[in-house]
Amino acid sequence: MKINVTKSTMPPYEEYIQEISDIWNNRWLSNMGPKHQQLENLLENYMDVPNVSLFTNGHLALENAISALSLSGEVITTPFTFASTTQAIVRNGLTPVFCDVNPNNFTIDTEKIEELITEKTSAIIPVHVFGQICDVEKIEQIAKKHNLKVIYDAAHAFGVKYKGVGVGSYGDISMFSFHATKVFHTIEGGGLTYRDDNLTSKLNSLKNFGQTTSKLVEYTAGNAKMNEFQAAMGIVNLRYVDKYIDDRKKVVKRYEEYLSDKEGIYLLSDQDNVQHNYSYFPVLFDGNVYNRNIVHDELESNGIYTRKYFYPLTSTFDAYDKEFNAQDTPIAKDIADNILVLPLYPELELEDVDKICKLILNLEVR
Ligand SMILES: *Cc1c(COP(=O)(O)O)cnc(C)c1O
Repeated sequence: MKINVTKSTMPPYEEYIQEISDIWNNRWLSNMGPKHQQLENLLENYMDVPNVSLFTNGHLALENAISALSLSGEVITTPFTFASTTQAIVRNGLTPVFCDVNPNNFTIDTEKIEELITEKTSAIIPVHVFGQICDVEKIEQIAKKHNLKVIYDAAHAFGVKYKGVGVGSYGDISMFSFHATKVFHTIEGGGLTYRDDNLTSKLNSLKNFGQTTSKLVEYTAGNAKMNEFQAAMGIVNLRYVDKYIDDRKKVVKRYEEYLSDKEGIYLLSDQDNVQHNYSYFPVLFDGNVYNRNIVHDELESNGIYTRKYFYPLTSTFDAYDKEFNAQDTPIAKDIADNILVLPLYPELELEDVDKICKLILNLEVR
């Protein structure tokens, strides 16, 4: 038996074939064709946001968001995230300034943002970690007061709503990833959501070599367009995403039956006023009653593949040549050292969840 940490959802084969047959007829394979247009409209509706702009992947969407807002100098962000967040900042020639996270839900600690603001700060780039949403109201207050832009890395937060509104409506721009392993996918893909309608033409230009509709090149930019086959996958997957999320929720609730309120184990819980997407099932071990590395290795020897995610902190990557210090964000460091993401996907059998939990609970080390 082998259980991976995730398994990509696949819509019915015939439905995808049906969807892409149009492409053979119209020979429009990329460059914002009809599928692309249709998916943007469908997503604006599903995600409950004013605007969606599609990209070839989430990472390039984030790089283009930074570029669209012409950020400069320093950006306040967190190191408890996927490589993409920090890489997007650095690749845009900006300096990441790492803020610690709060221990309750691993998102940016809003009490610690203001002390990091300098005259060089141009933006805050927080992350909705594991689909838990940041304190969006407090962040908006801080950003207004100091005249900063806000871009959310919302890669984990597809379909999440806060107070009945799509979470992508907060901040200046939010980036969603539609990678094969995410709750909703377009094979590879990503999207930016935003309220300001004026951004639409700039984003369309930035993803297409900086060309404007008149083919003049107005911005320094590359190629980040989503193609029609990706968009078709999105159109078909979107029909099933509510069911996928429902099935994920059942798995999460089963895990919770075993692992909630156990000494030495901390789980994330549902947030007030939030409609969650159950994208990941992270477990934080205390290192005392349970040890993360032991649990990881023991499960692996039973054919169960978990993931130390996010570990290590992005601030400690070799690429950044010891420029940053993990000790500056002690809570994030502690979480990275003790976190383990368990298998979660819509088709995961509840009996397998039982088995995984029983194995874990047998691994008390004290
Ligand atoms: C998946 C992910 C990304 C990047 O998305 P891609 O679509 O794979 O480029 C960025 N940030 C986080 C937190 C992610 O999980």
